[in-house]
Amino acid sequence: MWLVRQHNRRKPTGLREGNESTFSWDVACKVPDELEERRSGKRSEPAIWTFRSLRLKRIGLKNLGARAAEDLVLGNALQLALENNELFLVYQPQMSIAGGTIIGMEALLRWRQSELGLVPPDKFIPIAESRGLIGSIGEWVLRTACSQIRQWQTEGLPVVPVAVNVSAVQFRQWGFAEFVARVLDETGLASDYLELELTESLLLSTGDATFAVLNDLSALGVKLSIDDFGTGYSSLSYLRHFPVSRLKIDKSFINSVATNPSDAAITTAIISMAKQLNLRVIAEGIETEDQFAFLRDHGCDELQGYYFSKPLTVDLIADNLRTPSWGSGNIRAIPESGLGLTIDA
Ligand code: C2E
Ligand code: MG
Ligand code: MG
Repeated sequence: MWLVRQHNRRKPTGLREGNESTFSWDVACKVPDELEERRSGKRSEPAIWTFRSLRLKRIGLKNLGARAAEDLVLGNALQLALENNELFLVYQPQMSIAGGTIIGMEALLRWRQSELGLVPPDKFIPIAESRGLIGSIGEWVLRTACSQIRQWQTEGLPVVPVAVNVSAVQFRQWGFAEFVARVLDETGLASDYLELELTESLLLSTGDATFAVLNDLSALGVKLSIDDFGTGYSSLSYLRHFPVSRLKIDKSFINSVATNPSDAAITTAIISMAKQLNLRVIAEGIETEDQFAFLRDHGCDELQGYYFSKPLTVDLIADNLRTPSWGSGNIRAIPESGLGLTIDA
């Protein structure tokens, strides 16, 4: 049983209440029963959710909550994710509103663990960061996305640039810009086919060092965008200094953009500011006709959302790229073409 094997490599140092490292060994001994039950068909839900229901008090550990226990299980399993080929990327198309054409796609990481099922990135990326695993995972993501686009290109498919999410922890690792240059070199992908999505908090956290890395990336010809824009800092003056080319309006504003005057005001203010700063602006999380109409009528350049397409597997993207009409002049191209089969985000 994987959890036990993994934990047994460590020697337990004795049981003290609230001690996480000791606790991890003890919990590992309890999990296999749950997994066995699931394997034998007595339970149908994934082990991770089953695990939440463990009665921690029963084993005398009151201070560790279910959340911490879950993180522990995920963190241990995540250490093996790369080795076991459990990670894969899906790609979500991005559309120009005016032209109705596909202008890019965002690479989104997925982790399917044999026992735990599909674990959402919002859950495992923070754990990868805290466990020191984000460097190798982030490297795998960048390399995989660049090789994939390059491969489609060499097959003669009409590829579009790919946007890759970069975690703040990964960005701050020594030699990040050199690493990006190396991946582009090794995969043979031209730098204008790569965009890196950074967050506001990342841009503002490390001062001059950040500025230098951004300039190095920009000098390579890599595009930079600010993800989840509007959710971070209130000071916008940094936009004057950093070489970013695109703002991604966070989906929390888009959710109620057509019904909530405050979200509508924030969204139109971001669009107008982006225009004045000569930045492209993309809205993410568009799901409805009303949201789409609002953004189109208020001058948003681009969109990304289930309204147009969920993230798609590599095979589906390739099928779509082979379809000459894909994304040309028809904003609902994917659902209407019947190629909108997706795996859930
Ligand atoms: P994000 O970069 O802001 O990505 C957009 C998220 O919104 C994706 O969730 C996408 O599937 C989802 N989304 C897109 N359109 C819609 C829509 O119309 N409705 C709804 N409800 N959701 C929509 P996902 O794939 O679960 O990723 C969540 C977050 O995990 C990402 O947010 C990003 O912060 C992080 N992430 C994903 N892949 C990577 C990666 O390779 N590296 C890093 N560092 N972070 C990643
Ligand atoms: Mg993103
Ligand atoms: Mg986002």
